[in-house]
Amino acid sequence: MATAPPPRRVVVCGGGVVGACTAYFLATHATAPTVPTLVEKSSPACAASGKAGGFLALDWCDSTPPLSALARASFALHRRLAASLDGASAYGFRPVHTLSVCVPSDAGPASPHPPLLPPWVDPSASAAPPRELGTPDTTAQVHPGLFTRAVLAASGTEVVVGEVDRVVVREDGRVAGVGVKGRGVVDADAVVLALGPWSGRLEMIREVFDVSGLKAHSIVLRPRDPDTITPHALFLSYQPEPGAKMLDPEVYPRPTGEVYICGMTKDAEVPDDPATITGEPDSIAMLHKIAGRVSSQLKREEGAEVVAEQACYLPCTSDGLPVIGEMPGVKGCYVATGHNCWGILNAPATGAALAELILEGNAKIVDLAPFSPARFLKKRSKRGV
Ligand SMILES: Cc1cc2nc3c(=O)[nH]c(=O)nc-3n(C[C@H](O)[C@H](O)[C@H](O)COP(=O)(O)OP(=O)(O)OC[C@H]3O[C@@H](n4cnc5c(N)ncnc54)[C@H](O)[C@@H]3O)c2cc1C
Repeated sequence: MATAPPPRRVVVCGGGVVGACTAYFLATHATAPTVPTLVEKSSPACAASGKAGGFLALDWCDSTPPLSALARASFALHRRLAASLDGASAYGFRPVHTLSVCVPSDAGPASPHPPLLPPWVDPSASAAPPRELGTPDTTAQVHPGLFTRAVLAASGTEVVVGEVDRVVVREDGRVAGVGVKGRGVVDADAVVLALGPWSGRLEMIREVFDVSGLKAHSIVLRPRDPDTITPHALFLSYQPEPGAKMLDPEVYPRPTGEVYICGMTKDAEVPDDPATITGEPDSIAMLHKIAGRVSSQLKREEGAEVVAEQACYLPCTSDGLPVIGEMPGVKGCYVATGHNCWGILNAPATGAALAELILEGNAKIVDLAPFSPARFLKKRSKRGV
């Protein structure tokens, strides 16, 4: 049987890390390189992909086998991409040490510096000796916004600013393009929907599966003496006061000299316009409190400069797995969303697998079967929905 020729016109919708990586691997495919058009509502990396931590781990998804394969393939691709695209540390890829630190509610009396704790972390920030969670062989980081924009730039993709409001399907069930608000239809032989937590705004997706957004906050600080900050990612556990909810913020020093701190998640409606998302004052204030408990270098009153106070939404699915594959019943329309707290890690293998599926007819780098959107159709028909 003759195989169908690869599509000539591909449109990627959404300029987050998933859309950007998909564009990159389409454009750099070994035998059928295809530079897509990318339609983005606001600006590339304006949402979670620009405000995430950028932490990468080889084996932290191993307890979920399908995700483990995606994560391991992605971790390897991150190294490969950094070798070819991260010249002069353009997006700050670097291996890191990763520690678990239990921060006591009160600073308490001065104590000796625990051996594993980096020198810029105050000894009073660690109730017990820190535990090693990852080494430079198994954990790394990128600056997520710079990474997203770097892969997109390297793909040579044209970015059209506009809001995709529908997928246009021919009578024979093949995709024909996407409708862009106020601009008409952009024609396509293949369409990739990479809209993060906004995916469910499209009727075609909403009819098959749900995507929700989980709001998370972050702050970025420039410490008093950036040169003393070492590449250590810290996973904290912190109870602000006895009886209060346990918090699990994360701290990522960046090669730029800045320190990023995130946490404080809550269910909240995803606003239409990504540019209007702001952090809630109590959550931002708690992140500053935690920063000050970790290191006096991160205290505003001791000279730390506030670079950003922000929030964004994790894209979540009902079964916790991403959705990657062809939409049931619509030939040539693909979806990639629901990457939850691992989208920066898992975007490269997602993009590479989609590029293979679109241009060659099947994905080789990872098995996409467990991520297919069709899994939700089965569940819905069992429930009679
Ligand atoms: C606080 C926080 C910390 C995180 N830390 C990490 C981490 O350390 N490591 C990690 O691996 N992951 C991390 N993540 C998760 C990661 O950020 C996300 O999984 C990832 O960014 C999702 O990427 P995306 O491209 O699917 O979605 P998004 O980044 O949300 O991008 C979707 C894009 O689609 C655009 N869009 C929406 N609707 C339309 C439309 N109708 N038409 C056109 N464009 C549209 C939006 O403007 C947006 O640019 C973190 C997330 C948060 C919130």
